[in-house]
Amino acid sequence: MTERVLKEPEYMTCLNCDTSRKVGTATYYEHNNPLVGTKYYPLCKKCIKQFFTGDEDTKQQRIKTILQQLNRPWIVDKWIYFKEDWGQYIKHIASFHGSKTFLDSEFSGDHNQEEDDCESGFSEKWRGKYSIDDINFLNGYLDGLMNDFKIINTSHLDYAKKISKASLHMDKCFEEMQNGESGADKKYETSKKIFDDLSKSANFAESSRSKDNASGSLSKIVDTVENGTYVYQHVPFEQDLYDRLLENQKHVEKSL
Ligand SMILES: [Zn+2]
Repeated sequence: MTERVLKEPEYMTCLNCDTSRKVGTATYYEHNNPLVGTKYYPLCKKCIKQFFTGDEDTKQQRIKTILQQLNRPWIVDKWIYFKEDWGQYIKHIASFHGSKTFLDSEFSGDHNQEEDDCESGFSEKWRGKYSIDDINFLNGYLDGLMNDFKIINTSHLDYAKKISKASLHMDKCFEEMQNGESGADKKYETSKKIFDDLSKSANFAESSRSKDNASGSLSKIVDTVENGTYVYQHVPFEQDLYDRLLENQKHVEKSL
C-alpha cells in the first residue's frame, strides 16, 4: 500500500454534532477508513460515547457500526477481556492491532483464522478434527448463540462452544438413525441428553435481542432449535444449517 498523506487540520467539525473541535486524541479517534482523508475520524468522541449509551442488548451492534466506520476489527475475545469497556477496547485495538481492519474481525471467539482450521483438518478453535462443512455448522451455531444470549465471559464462551459441538454431534447421530444404522437410536438419545444437560448447566441469560422467541431459558430455546425456527430467525444467512434442522424436524415428525 502506498503511504497516504492524511490531513491534520487544527480544528475539525464533527459530522454528527456540527461542533468544531480542536483535533487530537482527546477529541477524535484515529482510524483505518481508506475513504476518509483526515488522520482522525470526523466523529467526535462525545458523539460516539453518546451513541453507545442506552439499551445494553443492542450495544454490541452499535459498537460494530462504529468499528466499521473506523475500519477497525471487532475481536470478540478482546471485547470480553476488556469487560465490554469501549475506551479500553479501542485503545488496545488501535495500539496492538493498528493495521487490522474490520475485515479482520473475529466474531465468534478464538484468535485462530479459519484458514488454519481447514489446512490439516484439525481445528484449534474447535479442538478437534472437523470437515469444512462441520466448521461452518459450528461457527454458524455459535454465532446464533452469541446473538441470542449474553455471552460475556470466557466460561460462557466455552459452554457455547461445547453446546455447538453437542448440536453437531446430535445432528450426526440423527443422520445415522435415519440411515437405519443399528444402535443409532441409542446413540441419538445419548447425544440428545448431553446436549440438554449442557444447555441446562450453561444457564445463559437470554439477551433481549431474542425476545421474539418468547422463551426464558436455554432448555426452552433447545425446543425452538429443534423446531427449526431459532437459527432461521437470527442467522438467516446460515441457510445450510436451517435446512439441516428442518430436515431433522421432518424426521422427528415422521418417527412420532
Ligand atoms: Zn460530535
